[in-house]
Amino acid sequence: MPSERASIADRRTRAAAKLRERGFGALLVSPSADLFYLSGYQMFPSERLTCLVLDADGTATMVCPALEAPRATLAAPDVARFTWQETDDPFAVVAGLVRTAGAIAVADQMWASFLLKLQTALPDRSFTPSSEITRDLRIRKDAAELEALRLVSESADRAYGRVLERPFAGRSEREIGADLADLLRSEGHDEVGFTIVASGPNGASPHHEIGDRRIAEGDAVVLDFGGAMRGYRSDITRTVRVGRTASPEQQKVHDTVRRAQEAGYAAARKDASAEAVDAAARRVIDDAGYGEFFIHRTGHGIGLDGHEHPYLVRGNRERLEPGMAFSIEPGIYLPGRFGVRIEDIAVIDADGSARPLNRADHAFATVA
Ligand code: ZN
Ligand code: ZN
Ligand code: ZN
Repeated sequence: MPSERASIADRRTRAAAKLRERGFGALLVSPSADLFYLSGYQMFPSERLTCLVLDADGTATMVCPALEAPRATLAAPDVARFTWQETDDPFAVVAGLVRTAGAIAVADQMWASFLLKLQTALPDRSFTPSSEITRDLRIRKDAAELEALRLVSESADRAYGRVLERPFAGRSEREIGADLADLLRSEGHDEVGFTIVASGPNGASPHHEIGDRRIAEGDAVVLDFGGAMRGYRSDITRTVRVGRTASPEQQKVHDTVRRAQEAGYAAARKDASAEAVDAAARRVIDDAGYGEFFIHRTGHGIGLDGHEHPYLVRGNRERLEPGMAFSIEPGIYLPGRFGVRIEDIAVIDADGSARPLNRADHAFATVA
């Protein structure tokens, strides 16, 4: 396997080739997943401009403020740097580094205030989002990325295994959320992204976060949580029941979601369309009579961003290919009552089948 620096340099080479192929002059990347992907530098957004300038001729320069130069050097030692002082105009510097004619691709998450200044500094260029260039690269994970996704998913699996040992009844969603955050960190996450703990009727809101509701015996509780390790993200959902008394309908809904998720796995293979995975999962839920209660797409890609391409949604005919990583997460949400969702991250393997990166049991686990 090539070294990490070599694979990052290779990404820049491929991005520059794409710029030339599409007639772009340069790619301007401010702090974002694209910046980490193309340089190895994980930088937070700041009012001082940090910008990787990748010209279509292949030249890469990291424009960074003086006080961040030590970190930028450490993270991306092989990228040329232009360090600007507090009284310099970094936008003029960036404009001066763009040599090739053509449109400018800018990071999708670049601040509008930066983009407006860059448009003034490069008045005769047109601008477009960088995902036109980086999407095709990032959608197929390389070996190092797949390994990072496997490790972070397994860490989330362990956190789930351990939260099952905690008491639920009588505690608030907020307390369980704090447990999940601690467990993610203690199992190796360096960042906690989100902890959704949606108990009883709150489970009917897919993105309910955490509140002060006290969890009670007989509740179904949706646990959806994730974060990052070395930039790569986890995202797992399991639904548990509190006490041994799941109602027949809770059990039926859980069984249906579980079968829908398995149908999603079966449909997810090389050359299948993204929408076919959604259709396969949705069919199981429709057939069980809960179709109107499955109110979101079946999945989303994952990598350096928690949600990225490919999206498993009706209308997306994009073909799945080896190296693509995405969630399969059907759910049923019964307003005023409860919800159930099961979510794993899966990756299309070289043999064309979908391999789960999450291996935590799918059963309707009982917690105390
Ligand atoms: Zn979600
Ligand atoms: Zn999730
Ligand atoms: Zn998800």
